Amino acid sequence: MIFAHKIALDLTQDQERYCRQAAGTARLTYNWALSEWQRQYHEGGKPSAVALKKQWNGIKYERYPWLSGIHRDAHAQPFTNLQKAFAAFFQNIKDRKVGKTRRKVGYPTFKKKGQHDSFYIANDKLQVQGKRLRIPQLGWVRMREALRFTGKIMAAVVSRTADRWFVSLTVQVDVAPRACENQAERCGVDLGIAHLATLSHPREHIEGPKPLKAALVKLRRLNRELARRIKFSTHWQKTKRKLGRLHARIVAIRADALHKLTARLAQTYRVIVIEDLYVAGMTQNRRLARAISDMGLGMFRQQLTYKAAISGATVIVADRWFPSSRLCVCGVVHDTLTLADRVFHCPACGYTDDRDFHAAQNLAAYPRLVGNDNACGQPSAGFPDGESETGLVEAGTTESALLRTF
Ligand SMILES: [Zn+2]
Repeated sequence: MIFAHKIALDLTQDQERYCRQAAGTARLTYNWALSEWQRQYHEGGKPSAVALKKQWNGIKYERYPWLSGIHRDAHAQPFTNLQKAFAAFFQNIKDRKVGKTRRKVGYPTFKKKGQHDSFYIANDKLQVQGKRLRIPQLGWVRMREALRFTGKIMAAVVSRTADRWFVSLTVQVDVAPRACENQAERCGVDLGIAHLATLSHPREHIEGPKPLKAALVKLRRLNRELARRIKFSTHWQKTKRKLGRLHARIVAIRADALHKLTARLAQTYRVIVIEDLYVAGMTQNRRLARAISDMGLGMFRQQLTYKAAISGATVIVADRWFPSSRLCVCGVVHDTLTLADRVFHCPACGYTDDRDFHAAQNLAAYPRLVGNDNACGQPSAGFPDGESETGLVEAGTTESALLRTF
């Protein structure tokens, strides 16, 4: 398995200057490649990243002599990135045509200064020693902590968030398939807006981190402050920087809460059932969008998947059509339940429960309901391996199959 560990860097002013230049180089290269791609395409050509790279190598030092001061990975990797961006764009068009996804991947766009500043370093140029990282042409820089994984280092990406620099080290780690030693059998997890998550066994609400609320209040205040300032004035710049730092803090608080939750789930249960929230589809609804992205639910699924792979636990993603919050114990699907209803009350049999607990309990029962109950926690032959690229076990049921089951 490939793991990535993102570590903050403590850079001197000179080192920071180099990183800014290297990120600028990567941006320049990418934008050159994209504009050249478009030009060749419009002239009827068939542009390719490999050909473009050759073309670039022929002219780059002549046109930009200062490039020799920046390690070549920074001005070589962008071609691979561009190739990937185009591949993802075209693949997405195909996938949407056959109804595989509704998520839209946009046409590659030009990079702007200050947005996602980063540059790449290949593994053969890298050295990591404790809390030190050797960047070619720059030398040793200090990392805030040592690399947490042992294995072959594949690559590094140095990036900037607000005014801090980070390195993301990708490491190939041998994870031997192992029997799950977790004690608790199974848990349904309902991801929510009112609560970060609700567990079925034992019944428990897990709240989102408090500092997040405080930070969001501050965010609103700073946004108002920014709107009052004269654009591009000194005060505006200052508020803008403050906002950038606060954003980075909010992301960090959120990621921390999710890491704690997913680690606990992966180490406690043999089987974890989560819902397919269809994050991309839901975020099109603007009112929900804020709350959902605040909770970082896409991140949740990704973290849970890789942590479960390490502990040997199984993650089951309930089918998109599974009515986890609307299905009653009596078997009736409560169609008029809305997102605003915090209590589930069955019009048919009168059964009443907290909405989130009810959904979590339905999720825990999901494998049994779709006829794929197995207590050992290993995917049975009945589970087709959907989404194998993420390692998730997706129970393949369609709406009609579900209706038959109930
Ligand atoms: Zn009922």
